[in-house]
Amino acid sequence: MALIKAQGLVIKSTNFGEASKILTVLTREFGKIQVAANNVRRGKFMRGAQIFSYSNFALFKGQKSLYRMNDVDCVEFFDPLRGDLEKLSYANYFADIACNITGENNEDERLLSLLLNSLHLLCRDTVSAKKIKVVFELRSMTAAGFMPDFSGCCDCRTERNIASFDLVNGTVRCGNCIKVAPNIAEINDTLRAACLYITQADMNKIFSFDMPDELLDYLSGVTERYAAIHIDKRLQSLEYLKKILGGV
Ligand SMILES: [Zn+2]
Repeated sequence: MALIKAQGLVIKSTNFGEASKILTVLTREFGKIQVAANNVRRGKFMRGAQIFSYSNFALFKGQKSLYRMNDVDCVEFFDPLRGDLEKLSYANYFADIACNITGENNEDERLLSLLLNSLHLLCRDTVSAKKIKVVFELRSMTAAGFMPDFSGCCDCRTERNIASFDLVNGTVRCGNCIKVAPNIAEINDTLRAACLYITQADMNKIFSFDMPDELLDYLSGVTERYAAIHIDKRLQSLEYLKKILGGV
């Protein structure tokens, strides 16, 4: 068996027996892979096998799709997430989305970059977690092939007086063309402009927009519904995040 090198972020870590784990790792080289990690009770192996550990892995590729961890060196551990329940809940939700929208052998690095950027920002407190959530939901769906079109009304192409966002088709309509349909969210020109920016800006600029808190709260509900419809699965991590934020 050949030894393979890969750099990736652990997005899921499940105990397997007394001292082993099955990891889901989002790698630069091979997309999402499953890794069996044995003897991870202590030292660098314990660290490297934890969720949100970003590491250089040395792996053996088995007969099936499962890889086996031979060595690991952690590059980034995202320490500030681990002692903060709210940040950890956001991070878990982002990782859960990533887990559900990408397949194996997907060489597209956009999702990994987005996730790493989002985790770095969650650690730093320079951008509100709610804003990171909005951006993550929209950009992860874009990376997954569900890029919404905020360029203008899908019927008459006007860029003004935008009134609705069709969450299923990812299109917007103006006040004149608006239709009654299920899964429609009300939006306005300000929200359309912000969403257009988020879906089209370069990765290093996607968080650089300003929006009043109230509007961001509303948009967070909209992007959450958009992501949920396209993931097509109820994510427990989202339920948990809501519970933490609601203080229930
Ligand atoms: Zn129109």
